[in-house]
Amino acid sequence: MPKTAEVVICGAGIAGISAAYYLSQAGVEDILLLDERPPLSLTSDRSTECYRNWWPDPEMLALMNRSIDLMEKLADETGNPFHMNRRGYLYVTADPGRIPAMIERAKRISNRGAGPLRVHTSEASAYQPAPVEGFHDQPVGADLLLGSALIRKHFPCLTEQAAAALHVRRAGWLSAQQLGMTLLETGRRHGVRFEAGRVTGVETEGGRVRGVRLGTGKAIHTRIFINAAGPFLKDVGALLGLDLPVFTELHLKVAFNDPLGAVERDAPLLIWEDPQSLPWEPDERAALAEDPETRWLTMPFPAGAHTRPEGSGQSILLLWEYQTKPMSPVWPPPLDGLYPEIALRGMSAMIPALRGYFGRLPRPQLDGGYYTRTRENRPLVGGTPVEGAYLIGALSGYGIMAACGAGSLLAAQVTGRNLPAYAGAFELRRYEDPAYVQQLEHWDDSGQL
Ligand SMILES: Cc1cc2nc3c(=O)[nH]c(=O)nc-3n(C[C@H](O)[C@H](O)[C@H](O)COP(=O)(O)OP(=O)(O)OC[C@H]3O[C@@H](n4cnc5c(N)ncnc54)[C@H](O)[C@@H]3O)c2cc1C
Repeated sequence: MPKTAEVVICGAGIAGISAAYYLSQAGVEDILLLDERPPLSLTSDRSTECYRNWWPDPEMLALMNRSIDLMEKLADETGNPFHMNRRGYLYVTADPGRIPAMIERAKRISNRGAGPLRVHTSEASAYQPAPVEGFHDQPVGADLLLGSALIRKHFPCLTEQAAAALHVRRAGWLSAQQLGMTLLETGRRHGVRFEAGRVTGVETEGGRVRGVRLGTGKAIHTRIFINAAGPFLKDVGALLGLDLPVFTELHLKVAFNDPLGAVERDAPLLIWEDPQSLPWEPDERAALAEDPETRWLTMPFPAGAHTRPEGSGQSILLLWEYQTKPMSPVWPPPLDGLYPEIALRGMSAMIPALRGYFGRLPRPQLDGGYYTRTRENRPLVGGTPVEGAYLIGALSGYGIMAACGAGSLLAAQVTGRNLPAYAGAFELRRYEDPAYVQQLEHWDDSGQL
């Protein structure tokens, strides 16, 4: 264990690793990544691994466009070991009454820099399907497909009720583990070191960072400390006397085998935009409604169930935040045994063939982690009131897609390079502006799935 480092980063999740990589690219030669767990083993291996530039918040949109630029560059430089694809996100509604709002929102996001919106109403239109692999030479923006026949021509697994489908094009998924390892291994060749250890103290002198203390009692001298502690961002912030405005929410995900092939293997990320009631047989519904403990299963559920095929076998991933659970992180995360069945039933509104699993649920693999987030769902990237102490975190449900953008932004801040126009939107000191804080009361579209 070295006794000094130019930069110490607490947390070797995707955020800390990306910060280390971009600092090494910026010429910093002595970067120590500390983690009490193996790299990329906490939140960063729980994600759905999807990315998109389609965000209603213009600052987030700009950050994501930059992050995707950087991921594409890295993929080109390294031979795409993280299998970045460009299948897109498909937002679908069966409710014609929702289409005007869907178009209005899509136009707004398109105008803010996500790329053009193309509307297709007939089979003769020039809609370009997405490739299964790769990301080159693809359209940006989004394609809006109107009418069930056109939608099902391109996405046959969808319900005949589908009335509109918005295919967001600068989007897809990748292997988060491989992306992280590519950044870590490349960083290692340029001065990044990883050591196991728990940060238990950050020492300061005259308002600036002097060193870090580990659980073993060891001290490491450094003038730059980066808090990339993921769900423990707030706890590590407290080591510096900071009360960071973040909280954590439990989010689950389930993987099933899909031997019936209900979800096509070449599908994009499929998102159901309509609120719904879960499908039950009449006798099941009556029994559930009778018991106060299970009645909620017969009540309205929110929009947002989503799924995608995973890997080259038969696996599919399903996610649906039908209950938001803010809570302090505990490990392992508490799992909701009803989640697999609820997610499957909810998803069947969009993909009717999933009903084939009702009553004979395939064995689910359920896991989960925490979204660490701010009120308005923007991340925290930048300095703190303690000189030499920085943050990269509160990456909520978008930390994989934002990692490269956030890491390169932080590296520019630490090394005093030119900052992009969106930098201020992600700094902690934005909360010092009363007008900004007031705006938060009316911040309703976080863009989070
Ligand atoms: C169910 C789910 C689905 C998701 N889907 C997506 C998606 O599709 N796309 C997307 O972009 N994002 C997604 N995310 C979000 C994404 O996974 C996170 O935003 C991201 O992984 C956060 O990375 P991180 O590096 O900040 O945190 P982490 O990966 O949690 O890393 C933090 C690290 O800090 C270490 N640490 C903490 N305290 C200390 C200490 N005192 N000393 C030493 N080490 C410490 C921890 O051990 C940990 O390794 C999803 C998340 C979940 C839970």
